[in-house]
Amino acid sequence: MSETQQPATRAITAGRAYSRTSLAPALWASTTWECEGLADASRRATATRAGEFYSRYSNPTVRSFEEAIAALEGADDALAFASGMGAIATVIFALCSTGDHIVAQRQLYAGTLAFLQGPCQRMGIETTLVDGTEPGAFAAALRPGRTMLALAETPSNPRLELVDLEEFGALRGPITVVDSTFATPLGQQPLAYGVHISLHSATKGIAGLNDATLGVIAGEQELIDAVWAYSVLHGSTPSPYDALNAIRGIRTLAVRTAHQSASALHLAEVLAGEPSVAAVHYPGLPSHPQFDLAKRQMRHGGTVLAIELAGGRDAASHFLDSLQLARVATSLGGPETLVCHPATSTHASLTPAEAAAAGVSDGLLRISVGLEDTADLVSDLTNALPR
Ligand SMILES: *Cc1c(COP(=O)(O)O)cnc(C)c1O
Repeated sequence: MSETQQPATRAITAGRAYSRTSLAPALWASTTWECEGLADASRRATATRAGEFYSRYSNPTVRSFEEAIAALEGADDALAFASGMGAIATVIFALCSTGDHIVAQRQLYAGTLAFLQGPCQRMGIETTLVDGTEPGAFAAALRPGRTMLALAETPSNPRLELVDLEEFGALRGPITVVDSTFATPLGQQPLAYGVHISLHSATKGIAGLNDATLGVIAGEQELIDAVWAYSVLHGSTPSPYDALNAIRGIRTLAVRTAHQSASALHLAEVLAGEPSVAAVHYPGLPSHPQFDLAKRQMRHGGTVLAIELAGGRDAASHFLDSLQLARVATSLGGPETLVCHPATSTHASLTPAEAAAAGVSDGLLRISVGLEDTADLVSDLTNALPR
């Protein structure tokens, strides 16, 4: 792998080690491999991430996906999981014990928040939530000797708020983890700022075709190996079929994200001029409060935007009913433009106070911009606005 390759080129060259001369990724569906007697079986059973032993420990197709992600993130290594939540739960339980403390931002994917406030709290792992957009907020909440993990998500779900990666990567004491799902590995590189672990729900933009449920982390070898040692017990093991689909997704990631980001920016500009739209949240828009930060740490504004309709929940309901092209569905990063109403779907489990803290208002809609023609999307979305 050449250090000088651009990310778009790495997306084509990476993750080919276990496919021999086959240009398409090879599917290794086997759960187990034959060993050459006792010594060989013993070596494979006890080595870290030994190949060709048992698929919960390592699988060549999954390994190809992991190597591709490591190449895109500029990391020593990567580790895949059965889902993004599988990655989050495994990382937290691999690194934290009863009595430990986590600092996380309050603008979090609802599943992550529920995991911190449910199972983690039940196990005696305490979390302090801070405003991730506020300078110094993470550092101020650290408890020296107790804070094991700092968890950021940027851009955040669903309002596209940013965490300053330079500041976050400079935190000393905890292991720093960035959920970089909304940016994809081509949109930003948290590890370049000293962050320890970059995490993705690869279900979203990385796999990119709504046909794989997958999570992945990337970072330094020692840390990834430590998480791996716990992961074989936690068992959130990715399917090689999903890893295969995700490698296919990576091959087109650069062109997909470039097109989708350009469309998202155009839609954000058009929707910002509509009287029924009270606010547009998109990091690539100069009116975004963190536009300068977005320009510093992101290669593009991303494929997701959020809008707030002045008419609240009734207007949101009218909008969803009026769409002809965009679909009402959760998830993001796929070829079809998807619109969801976080207050009643992804964030429905939050209390009103939590929803308010997360910026989830009744008129808020999250739009994942797909691969349709941009002009067709503009007319579909503007036609669905309440008049
Ligand atoms: C979807 C998502 C997750 C969870 O990923 P799954 O693959 O659905 O388990 C975590 N973080 C963010 C930002 C997400 O968008």
